[in-house]
Amino acid sequence: MKKITQFIKKNKFLTLILLIYIILFILMPNKAITSLKNSFYYVKEMLMIMPVILLLTALITAWVPKKAIEKNLGSNSGFKGSIFSFLLGSFSAGPIYAAFPVCKTLFEKGASISNIVILLSTWAVVKIPMLLTEFKFLGPKFMIARWILTTISIFIMGYITSKLVKPKDLPLNDPQENYLVEPLRISSEYCIGCGICSEIAPKYFKMENKKATVINQNIYQKDLKAICKAIEKCPSQIIQLHK
Ligand code: SF4
Repeated sequence: MKKITQFIKKNKFLTLILLIYIILFILMPNKAITSLKNSFYYVKEMLMIMPVILLLTALITAWVPKKAIEKNLGSNSGFKGSIFSFLLGSFSAGPIYAAFPVCKTLFEKGASISNIVILLSTWAVVKIPMLLTEFKFLGPKFMIARWILTTISIFIMGYITSKLVKPKDLPLNDPQENYLVEPLRISSEYCIGCGICSEIAPKYFKMENKKATVINQNIYQKDLKAICKAIEKCPSQIIQLHK
């Protein structure tokens, strides 16, 4: 019984789906079978695509240097980064769910939230194979008008999302493992360079090129007060400590 409760706690969404299926099988068995067939179709499609995507994310993790991602897709990449994200999304292939692991890997390597939104949105609605199909079925005028309006909206969405969602709001890959290595973190792409943290806890923070960096991951109990004060006083709220 304890194991079942643990499973339900860990897999709330899956449990809800199973529950819906059970109810559907009792009340409308025909619809439940049709739904099950559709679900299997999509699971099969995912199983065919996901290994390639996971391989791609592994290659990005292993081969693409963090600095290259930060430079070309990070928060300081400016308009060039937005165009690069747009092109990446435009020349992508495959369903949108395949984009999520790729985007997560890029985010963990330093891509900014606005560029992730641009890449995801472009992948979803203005990628080249989609435009070609649209051209064939709905004509060039429709395709061009929609492309222009959608592209403008994508850039606006990227900007607004980056104001509403901060890096600390996104889950890290295997946070426990990462935090064991780096309990103290700064999302430095959002650092405004005020220097408050390095003034309060100079043993742990240092300013480099107008950005704060963590210089010591050995957290001593006696220093916790200063670190917590730096976290509290940081105007951008981008310092995290995992104890
Ligand atoms: S207090 Fe925050 S914003 Fe200021 S330098 Fe430190 S990390 Fe950057």
